[in-house]
Formats: sequence, C-alpha cells, structure tokens
Amino acid sequence: MRVAMIGTGYVGLVSGACFADFGHTVTCVDRDARKIEALQRGEIPIYEPGLDRLVETNVREGRLDFTTELPGPVAAADAVFIAVGTPSRRGDGHADLSYVHACAREIAAALAGFTVVVTKSTVPVGTGDEVERIIRETRPDADVAVVSNPEFLREGAAIRDFKHPDRIVIGTTDERARAVMTELYRPLYLNQAPLLFTARGTAELIKYAANAFLATKITFINELADLCEKVGGDVQEVARGIGLDNRIGSKFLHAGPGYGGSCFPKDTLALIKTAQDHEAPLRIVETVVAVNDQRKRAMARKVAAALGGSVRDKTIAVLGLTFKPNTDDMRDAPSIPLITAFGDMGARVRAYDPAGMEQAKRDLDGLVTFCGNAYECAEGADALVIVTEWEQFRALDLDRLKQAMRQPVVVDLRNVYRPDEMARAGFTYASIGRPAFA
Ligand code: NAD
Repeated sequence: MRVAMIGTGYVGLVSGACFADFGHTVTCVDRDARKIEALQRGEIPIYEPGLDRLVETNVREGRLDFTTELPGPVAAADAVFIAVGTPSRRGDGHADLSYVHACAREIAAALAGFTVVVTKSTVPVGTGDEVERIIRETRPDADVAVVSNPEFLREGAAIRDFKHPDRIVIGTTDERARAVMTELYRPLYLNQAPLLFTARGTAELIKYAANAFLATKITFINELADLCEKVGGDVQEVARGIGLDNRIGSKFLHAGPGYGGSCFPKDTLALIKTAQDHEAPLRIVETVVAVNDQRKRAMARKVAAALGGSVRDKTIAVLGLTFKPNTDDMRDAPSIPLITAFGDMGARVRAYDPAGMEQAKRDLDGLVTFCGNAYECAEGADALVIVTEWEQFRALDLDRLKQAMRQPVVVDLRNVYRPDEMARAGFTYASIGRPAFA
C-alpha cells in the first residue's frame, strides 16, 4: 500500500516509520521545512527510543521518504493520514482544528483515484464529517472515504505501542475503506491485534473517553495520596491493594505531581467543551481538570513545607523537566507551573533533564539555571525535587548528592526512593502519600 502521512511530529513520524516497517511505501509530509531537511539528512528531530534505527532502516530500503510537497504523495496514495496537531484553542479550550481543516483542503486539491483519508489526530466528534464536507466542497468529483483511526501510542514507548497495540479503533462504515484499513494493519495480525470497527463519530469519542478515563484514574489516586498523608496511610499499598482487582487494574495508579503532557490536559479540556456544547456536561472530568490544575502549585507548597515553610532565597534543584521519562516533549509538563511557582515564591531554581532541556529553554528561559547532570544540579541546593522519574535518577549516589547540597532535603514527587533508605542516608525526605520514616 502507498501511504501519505501529513504531519511528521511525534505521532506522524512514528506511525509513518512503523507502516514502512510493515512493508508499505510511506511518504511523510510536513510543512516545517527545517524538520524535513533534518530528516532527509538522517537526523531525527525528536527524542523517541529506537526511532533513529527504524527510520534509517526503512529509508535505506526505499520504503520511507520525507518531503514538504504534499500533492505528489497524496495523489499516489491509497491512504492519506492526517496527523497534524490539535492543540487547545487559545481563549476557550476547544480543540483548535485549523491545522486539520487546512490539511483537508490541501489533500482535497491533490486527490487522484479512490483514496482513504484517515484522521489520526485526536479530534472532537463530528470532525470527520467536517473533513468530508471540506473535501467534497473543494473537489466534488473526488472518490474518497473519510475514516477515523485515533492513535493511542505513548511517547517514550511509541514504537512498541504502535506495533503491539491493545486495540486499533477504525471508524468507518465504508466497505472499501474497511478493506484498505484492514490491509494496512494486516502485518499486526500475527500479534493478534484486535481491530475494532465502529461508526466514525464513535471512534472519535473513544479516543477522548480513553484519555479522560486515564486522567481520572491518576487524579483519583493523587487525591487519595493527599488523604494518606493526612491519616498516615501508604498510597502505594492502597494502589496495589485496589489495582490487583481486575475490575480496577494496576496501571495509572501512580500518585505524583499531577498529569501533564501533550495530550491529557488539552484532550480533557476539549472533551469537557464538546460535552457542554451538547448539554451533556461531564462533571467528573470537569472536576478532574480542576483538581489537577491546582495540584502543581500545591507541589510547590509541599517543597516549601519541607524547607520549614518558605523557599524565599533558597536554591531548589529540579531533576526532570519533561512530562515523563524517555521523551523530550515539554508540552504542558508539570515542571513548568511548578518552577513558575518557585519563582513566584522567591526561590532560585537549578534544573537538569536528560533530553528535555532544549525544549525547556523555550518555556523556562530566565527562570532556571540549566545544569549538565544531576550532581551539578544539586550543587549548593537547599532542596532537591524529583519531578520526572528518568531511569538515571533512580539510582543516584546519595552520598555524592548530599555532599553537593547545602541542606540534605529531598522531595520526591514520583516516589522513586524508599523513605527508610533516604533516612538512613541522612536526608530529610518527603514523598507523595507515604508516611515519613520514623
Ligand atoms: P506534533 O506537533 O509533534 O506534530 C504535528 C506536525 O504537523 C508538526 O510537525 C507540524 O509542522 C505539522 N503540520 C501542521 N499542519 C500541517 C499541514 N497543513 N501540512 C503538513 N504538516 C503540518 O504533534 P503530535 O504530538 O504528533 O500530535 C499529532 C496529533 O496526534 C494530535 O492531534 C495529538 O493529540 C494526537 N496524539 C498525540 C500523541 C502523542 O503522544 N504525542 C498520542 C496520541 C495522539
């Protein structure tokens, strides 16, 4: 099959490279000329484990290439994927569909022969109808089926997720489109990938429902962690105790500083807005968003409490800036409101992240002194805060850390360390929802 992937970001590049790896011929298109030139030189513009090798192999074998020119690859394609961004719209929190709509117009103009146009971007229910309307308005003669195929991959484990998905949701009632989509994902059948065919609007809803549910799970355990702190419980044992129940499941029950990232914040908000527009408000999700928003500054107050009530004129060392490990993505990372709050409270902030510092400079320039590693970051600090659980922060040399710091205070927002080992190492240690070691 011939595939055109429009939008070569975290989702488009991974999906394009994986489809090529399945044996299809894929052209990734992006209007960002710098990104495409980098890819043509063999440089990967994002940090995603394993992606460099996957891209290199498939380029070498002639199944994957990159261009800024959309018409040629679209005209040649059996399936055109829309994988452009759908950020929060400034001002009202609805999904900004301007990139999707612009893309639909460009695709329409270039279509030739029967083509399946697939929305992979996360889009509100009804967007497929609008994409189809735009295409039919631009090109009444086009032979086209518009399909929803939301993506569930996680950054940091994107290739594995794409190749071993829990399910592939395909929203279409068109038989020819169904055949094309089945053929595209056929190589996954050996792994028994379950294809779930639904109506287009239902597929669009599934993606938002999944993200809202996961955000709810995280927020639920975060609030329970707060309760544990008040009453002396251990949230990790609570999570294990409920997670072993198959009806609940153990995933997404790790208490922390609140969810962030490129999807949950904007997708929960967009779903709330859609629901309000249709007079079916999702009050649970509304509460989740509000609780999660307040949590970031609450984490700054937690650090202040660990320092006796104030961070004014103190130096805070922040380990981890990206919203999770194994990515360089800084979009809506919890570290941003946290560090902003430290600044508001009069603290100086030093920070280190293994992959995210380039992107972080855009959001945090002037607020942070960027450091070369964890120990340099800890130099002269009154408190060290673990914000992202990168593997290299899980086995720090505690003696070296303590020597570097002005005061041995660690606030572990990811529960990476054990209270007893930190106490033995001579640290004042606070974590999330766990009793201090007495
Ligand atoms: P991204 O910002 O990394 O990439 C989007 C790309 O689209 C950019 O490179 C941009 O230059 C390009 N683009 C925009 N308009 C274009 C046009 N008209 N023609 C060609 N290229 C164009 O975004 P992303 O993280 O890959 O997310 C894409 C979509 O996938 C979003 O809807 C997102 O919600 C969804 N999604 C993301 C993830 C994730 O983990 N990042 C997971 C699942 C779903």
